Amino acid sequence: MKYIKGNIENGLTPITSSWMTHLFQNGPLLKDVLHEYGSPANIHHLDSFSENVTVFKEAIEHYEIAYQIYYARKANKCVSLVKRAFELGIGVDTASYKELEQCVQLGGTAKNVVLTSAIKTPNQIKLAIQHEIPIILDNLDEWNLTYKIASELQKKAKVGLRMSGFTVENEKLYSRFGFDIDMLVEDTISILVEEIYKDFIAIEGLHFHLDGYSTTQRGKALSDCLSLAEKLALRNIQIKFIDIGGGITMNYLESKEEWEAFTKNLQHAVLHHLPTGTFSNNGLGYENINGALEGKLNTYPFYNECNGIDFLRNVLDFKDAAGHSNAYKLKKQNIQFRLEPGRSLLNQVGITVAKVVHRKKDAKGQWLVGLDMNMSQMMSSSADFLLDPFVLYNENPSEEVAVYFTGAYCLERDVLLKRKITLPQLPQIDDIVVFVNTAGYMMHFFETEAHLFELSSNLNFTQTEGNPSLENFTKDVEI
Ligand SMILES: *Cc1c(COP(=O)(O)O)cnc(C)c1O
Repeated sequence: MKYIKGNIENGLTPITSSWMTHLFQNGPLLKDVLHEYGSPANIHHLDSFSENVTVFKEAIEHYEIAYQIYYARKANKCVSLVKRAFELGIGVDTASYKELEQCVQLGGTAKNVVLTSAIKTPNQIKLAIQHEIPIILDNLDEWNLTYKIASELQKKAKVGLRMSGFTVENEKLYSRFGFDIDMLVEDTISILVEEIYKDFIAIEGLHFHLDGYSTTQRGKALSDCLSLAEKLALRNIQIKFIDIGGGITMNYLESKEEWEAFTKNLQHAVLHHLPTGTFSNNGLGYENINGALEGKLNTYPFYNECNGIDFLRNVLDFKDAAGHSNAYKLKKQNIQFRLEPGRSLLNQVGITVAKVVHRKKDAKGQWLVGLDMNMSQMMSSSADFLLDPFVLYNENPSEEVAVYFTGAYCLERDVLLKRKITLPQLPQIDDIVVFVNTAGYMMHFFETEAHLFELSSNLNFTQTEGNPSLENFTKDVEI
C-alpha cells in the first residue's frame, strides 16, 4: 500500500512525526489493527508525550524557579498517559470524581494531583481532602462545602482560589469561573480570614485558567496574582503556589504560507459569494453581511508561531510597571509556579485511523466517502479541524477527485472535515484514512455512544527497529 496526504496543492499540511510516517508505510498492518480492534482506532505514542514533558521541564528549569507541571487529563481519556505523567515526575490536573479517583488509584498524591472541576460535588471534595490533594475553589459555596466536609473529616483542606476578572490593557476580562480579583480584595478576603475557618481550610495558592490564547493576558494575570499574594501575606495568608492553568498553544501546521493563503482564499470566497471549498459553503465563522465580510475564523489557531515553550517564556518574562518579570517575582516571593497544559503536552501524541466503507456521488456531483466512524470521534469544539488527512491505498493513482469524508451519525452534518479534500484517486472500500495529531481533545472530548456505536478503541504504539507488527500495539491500561 502507498500513502498520500490529501490536498497536495492548496492544502494545510500537518506537522507529522517519524512514528506516524512509520505507520503510514505499513498500511497492511494498520488494516490488521482495524480488523483486530475495530474502526476507528486511536493510536497513541507515549514517548512523544514524554518528549513534550522534557521540553517543558527544561524550559522552566532555565528560570531556576520552583515549579510543578500538571497534565490536564480532560484533554484525553487514556489512563496510560496518566501513568506516564506520574512516571515522568509531573502531576495531573483532574476535573471530575472519576478522573480524581483513577489518579489516586494510580498512586497520585498531594504532591502531584490537583482538583479543578467546574462543579465540585461533595464526593470529589471528600476524596481530595482525604488525600490532602489541593482543591481549586471557584466560589464561596464551594468554600463553605469544603469547610463542612473538612470539619466532618476532622482534616484540614488545602485549597487554591481560582481568580478571574483581570484587567488587561484597560479591559476587564469576563469569565464565569472563579473569584473576581477586584471583589476578592474588597469583600471576600475578610470572610476567608475569619477565625472559624483556620482549623479546617488552608489557602495555599492562587489559580487562573483563561479563555483564548493570549500570552499578554496570562502574563498580566500572573503578575496580578503575585501582587495579590503580597496583599494576602499582610493578612497572614501565605501563598505557596500560583497556577496559570492551560491554554498553552500548539502548532499543528507546517507552513505559514499555506495558512495565510487558506484564510485569504476563504475570506475572498465568502465576500464574493464564490465556492469556499467547504461542505455547504460553510464560511467557518466568516459571513457576508450586506456585501461586507463579517466574523472571524471560528477554529483553533492551527498555525501558531508562538507556541509551547515560547508561549510559556512570554508569560514568565512579562514585566510589571516597575519592570520586574513574573519569573523574578516568583523567585523573590518564594512561590511555586504551576501550570496545567493539556493539549500542548499531547502534541504529536496521537492519530485517528478509520476504514473506508462506501463512496457515492451526491446530487450536486460531490463525492462523499463514508468512513467507519462518527463525527463525535474526531470532533473539534470549533468550526473545523483544519489539517489535511492521509489516505493509505492499494490502487495506482488514476483520476484526481475531491471528496468529503462522512460519518455514521444520522445527521446531515456528520461530515468529518468541512473542507473538501483533493486526492489523486477515489479511495477504495477498505482503504484507510488517517487524521493526525488528534490526541488533544479531538478523540474523546465530545465522543458519544449515539446509535449504540461502540466507543473507539485506544491503543498505544511502541516503535521498534525494523518492521512493526500487531504486537507493537497494546490497549490502553484499564483500571
Ligand atoms: C481545560 C483546562 C486546562 C487545559 O487546557 P489546555 O488548553 O488543554 O492546555 C487546564 N486547566 C483548566 C482549569 C482547564 O479547564
